[in-house]
Amino acid sequence: MHVPLASPVDSYLAHKEEIDVAVMETLGCGDYILGRQVDHLESEFAAYLGVRSAVSVSSGTDALALSLRALNVGPGDEVITVSHTAVAVVSAIEQVGAIPILVDIERGFYTIDFRKVFEVTTANTAAVIAVHLYGQSVDMESAKRYQKETEIPVIEDCSQAHGASWMGQKLGTFGVLSAFSCYPTKNLGAFGDAGLITTQDQSLGERLRRLRQYGWIEKQRSLEPGVNSRMDELQAAVLRVQLRTLDRRNSRRQEIAARYLSGLSGLPLTFQTIRPRSEHVYHLFVCECAVRDELRNFLSQNDVQTGIHYPLPIHQQPAYQGRLRTSSLSYTEGVAKRVLSLPMFPEITDSQIDYVVDTIRRFPAFN
Ligand SMILES: *Cc1c(COP(=O)(O)O)cnc(C)c1O
Repeated sequence: MHVPLASPVDSYLAHKEEIDVAVMETLGCGDYILGRQVDHLESEFAAYLGVRSAVSVSSGTDALALSLRALNVGPGDEVITVSHTAVAVVSAIEQVGAIPILVDIERGFYTIDFRKVFEVTTANTAAVIAVHLYGQSVDMESAKRYQKETEIPVIEDCSQAHGASWMGQKLGTFGVLSAFSCYPTKNLGAFGDAGLITTQDQSLGERLRRLRQYGWIEKQRSLEPGVNSRMDELQAAVLRVQLRTLDRRNSRRQEIAARYLSGLSGLPLTFQTIRPRSEHVYHLFVCECAVRDELRNFLSQNDVQTGIHYPLPIHQQPAYQGRLRTSSLSYTEGVAKRVLSLPMFPEITDSQIDYVVDTIRRFPAFN
């Protein structure tokens, strides 16, 4: 039996009729960029989260970079984040000329450790990017305290946490600005690159709308320097359909996680610690295994595709090695050798999940 890690095409096939209609209507409309589909998506996404403003952009990376720009973060400013995340986060920080400062993650949760954030905060700290990892919230209590005590803005990176919540409140509503990627495999995925930024601050929303299109306040009139980071109508049309079923697909992800957890209990694997009072939406289902590479090979031999998020911490990647400022990242470095992501997507069948579980149970090192 073949089991992929993720399968955006299955998510298309599951909603083919609706998506086909939306795409065909858009093709015939005459607007292809920043038109009515985008307008509707922005208001529907803002309403879904309960924020004042949602601004669409070209990607999750741009959503982070434009968020920093909108907060006037630039050359010489320090931005604190983690090394155990997508390279996109550090790429966005350097895009605006700021200096990434990387700290370690919390044991078991894998998300930014705010005790470390407090330790590396200086007069030059301009923002923190807190990544909600694998579908679960960062320690929002500490994030809120940090913001209150230092008045330094915390930007939420919700690229893996569309629809997740903390204490009943959706992620993407706490930060001054929150960034979302809508890359095809994300919980809310387009069929190309796309991203969204949310904020409760209308004037920041207005500024982002300018920055994403050459700083225009009206056509051909730039108030400030901006970029081109616009969303296509086609991506917006697809995302509107996907948004309508996001909660249902997230519930299915939770069911899949529960089936894995019960099927894999008793094995020498550890799983992400569940944060109290938070709702996990399982963008990824990650386990830690001492013989990770052997297990991964065994699964691959049995046609089960897995992933590693993330195999090499950012500060150890060739592009960044030896030049990024970090505090001790010993836990991050260890975790990178042990984490393994199992197949996780809403359309996976129960028999595929059971096949993954049975294969892991047959893994020689576990017997
Ligand atoms: C996917 C992702 C991004 C980057 O998004 P793109 O749309 O690929 O630019 C940023 N941060 C995190 C945590 C992600 O998972």
